[in-house]
Amino acid sequence: MVEHMKWWGWGQEGVAFHHEDKPNLAPFVKRVSGIDFDAPPAQVPELSELEVPASRASQELREALVAALGAEHVHDDDHDRVVHTYGKSMRDLVRVRRGDFGRVPDLILYPGTEAEVEAVLRIALDADAVLIPFGGGSNIVGSLEAPREETRPVLSLDVGRMRAVLSLDETAQTARIQAGALGPDLEAQLNARGWTIGHFPDSFKHSTLGGWIATRSSGMQSDRFGDIADITRAVRVVTPKGLVATSEVPVQSVGPSVREMVLGSEGRLGIITEATVQVHRVAEERVIQAYFFPDYASGLKAMHDIAASDASPSITRVSDANETQFTLATSKKGSPLGQLLNKGVQLYASKRKGFDLSEMCLSFIGFEGSSLGVRRNKALVAEIVKKHGGFGVGSGPGTLYDQKKFDTPYIRDFILDRGAYGDVSETSSSWTTLKSLHDNVVAAAGKAFAEVGVKGFVFCHLSHSYHSGACQYFTFAFQPPTDRDGLEAYDVVKGAIQQAFIDNGGTLSHHHAVGREHKRWVSEDLSPAGAEIVSTLFAGVDPGRNLNPGAIV
Ligand code: FAD
Repeated sequence: MVEHMKWWGWGQEGVAFHHEDKPNLAPFVKRVSGIDFDAPPAQVPELSELEVPASRASQELREALVAALGAEHVHDDDHDRVVHTYGKSMRDLVRVRRGDFGRVPDLILYPGTEAEVEAVLRIALDADAVLIPFGGGSNIVGSLEAPREETRPVLSLDVGRMRAVLSLDETAQTARIQAGALGPDLEAQLNARGWTIGHFPDSFKHSTLGGWIATRSSGMQSDRFGDIADITRAVRVVTPKGLVATSEVPVQSVGPSVREMVLGSEGRLGIITEATVQVHRVAEERVIQAYFFPDYASGLKAMHDIAASDASPSITRVSDANETQFTLATSKKGSPLGQLLNKGVQLYASKRKGFDLSEMCLSFIGFEGSSLGVRRNKALVAEIVKKHGGFGVGSGPGTLYDQKKFDTPYIRDFILDRGAYGDVSETSSSWTTLKSLHDNVVAAAGKAFAEVGVKGFVFCHLSHSYHSGACQYFTFAFQPPTDRDGLEAYDVVKGAIQQAFIDNGGTLSHHHAVGREHKRWVSEDLSPAGAEIVSTLFAGVDPGRNLNPGAIV
């Protein structure tokens, strides 16, 4: 039995965001964005009230698939088909709640082995059907949906039955893991033997190893463990050209990397069935320290110095002033975050350190490893923080942030219930352009809010650091005007932010991928010739455009 997220929103049924225990949040959000937490929520319709287009699969195709997988692994009920229609982007959530289902897959397939995946692909190609691999369905870039005008049969291949850690090589420090393993599946299996993959995206509970690889995902502790592109050492992929199995070696010099071609391929080259990934011993000690900086520029300079130093933290994160205010507003009375709002901390920051409290920026830095390593790294970081005018406020707020990070995504459904829109966009750029990119993106968002006539709010944090630059992660929210379709207004704001990335030395995405949402910026990002090479690769492997046509290019 494969469990899925809510058909209409994020996460598990019965789990939702609440703000009653966070007394400062509703007034703060109302003031900065006009979004009213106390507005009565709209009821999400029952799926049975909506019209789901009927499955168009022919009897012949259905029989061939049932013969390959067994009837219990070929589904065509409305609920399963709707769950597999979209991912969890803002656009997806709005459309699915409106009953705007587009091209719903005709059949949902649950193979249990690589041989069954091969059989499904063969049948799909013979029938000239479209086949879309499905992991956890958590992407936010529209990388799962079939083209609306698609007249061929559409099949969704869900790898959710393939979720085992197949083997662990403690000498090489690698594990072979099936692509359908969700974050908690694979961590539980590895942790039981004292190991971890070290990949913890915010969507960890609802995304899969195959999905991470197919979107080039990045986790919170990437500063220490690397992005999934670094973690993935080898892949097995069922493609129209046959089974691709790359060597399980640390590095190779054998032409352009086929492993790298699979990373970020969003189902366009084939179905990833398993991967060999780097694993690490579960750390002896793990701690997240909180710091305050006088402003975002000092915070960024400190993160840059940390990246250039001998310190090797697992997380480097600094929020801009707007995000800091938001985070502080989410605190519960008496909680470690709430204590940051107490008079002592505020007085220390303003009187002793001379901070302007409205510009102050909160930072979380994570350390893990041996006790000795953690102590040494903390000391190195403390010196750098001090050099940039910052000060430490202990590990309480960081521990709380760590415990709550997987709950935060539920807030998007909460505001959508009240007709408001909230979303994220992220990019990477060099240390040289980081601050100007931030300022120009915030300005572009402000201009877009004005253009659509709304009082929007945008904030940002640096989330992953590298030798030459970092990722900045922007969140924006607004209450759409009553005289304009919400998605139209959303397009103006989202489009302005994405364009500002490209115009200011950033990439269209550091880790959320392309899908259909970011497709129009691919040529600008990769150069037209670069985009042409990607198209040619897909056309060569999949000349019939049977595999997830429409994603990326
Ligand atoms: P899906 O959404 O099911 O699929 C994504 C794409 O990969 C599709 O094109 C699909 O066809 C393809 N695919 C999936 N499985 C396979 C396979 N086995 N073989 C071939 N192709 C396949 N991303 C991050 O990187 N870091 C984050 O911190 C993060 N946080 C998020 C928080 C929230 C609230 C949300 C909604 C999303 C977040 N994401 C994050 C985005 C998303 O979780 C990632 O893109 C994730 O890697 C998608 O994995 P999935 O298993 O859900 O893939």
